[in-house]
Amino acid sequence: MRKNLLAHIRLAGSSNAKKKSIIKIGNNIAFGGKKIVMMAGPCAVESEDQLENIAETLVTAGVKIIRGGVFKARTSPYSFQGLGLNGLKIFSKIAKKNNLSIITEVLDIRDIEKMLPYCDIFQIGSRNMQNFALLREIGKLKKAVLIKRNMSSTIQELLLAAEYVLSNGNPNVILCERGIRTFETETKNTLSLSAIPLIKEISHLPIIVDPSHATGKKTLVPAMTKAAIAAGADGILIDIHPNPKKALCDGSQALKPGEFLQLMQKIKPIAWAIGRDI
Ligand code: PEP
Ligand code: MN
Repeated sequence: MRKNLLAHIRLAGSSNAKKKSIIKIGNNIAFGGKKIVMMAGPCAVESEDQLENIAETLVTAGVKIIRGGVFKARTSPYSFQGLGLNGLKIFSKIAKKNNLSIITEVLDIRDIEKMLPYCDIFQIGSRNMQNFALLREIGKLKKAVLIKRNMSSTIQELLLAAEYVLSNGNPNVILCERGIRTFETETKNTLSLSAIPLIKEISHLPIIVDPSHATGKKTLVPAMTKAAIAAGADGILIDIHPNPKKALCDGSQALKPGEFLQLMQKIKPIAWAIGRDI
């Protein structure tokens, strides 16, 4: 740890809080408590049918938060960029119908106000982890925010990104480990499992894991989900899609609904073994 920067981790540091932060959102959901919070959904919102199918799966699984991007941060400008605000309105309609809360990525300061009524958690994507202007604006709200670790950032830099939101007045920050870039090319990223207990040592903020973007491969997602839970993750964010082969974004890492339901059964005893619920 670079000591000089560690000194800047004031509000996010464990010494600043007497106990772990519990971030509450509607629907009786709390991040950072005994219960591990599961979130799942498509990488990108594509259609009403796609969302209905996924919402039904989540309700069956007892999952209360649906994920899905309507503003997509794609590496290529020619890839599908998302359905935008209209997509979010459809997303919100289906989520409400199924009593689900929404987590979705905000890419641009200019969209914040328009998105506010339709989502429950703002996701700051890994590529925007150091978009300080965006972090400051989100910091002026009270809406919960999930900050994804940038693929090339240290844990310290992730905590300093959280510090931007906290120091502007928003205490509702959740951190996310989603893999970092290493020399390995067989996986999309390398999941940094040790980030979970380390962040718990130095911060009071909840830390969740995204095993889908961390690996880029659906076959690796179940094992990494189990490992993340065993390592103490406060939540899991998983890509699922009714027809991954036809997905407009990140199909290779999406579980089918049936595979997700099976995984939900397998992770329960792991959570119980470490004194958590799921
Ligand atoms: C996503 O969750 O859809 C996403 C783009 O993730 P990340 O920012 O971690 O790449
Ligand atoms: Mn994605």
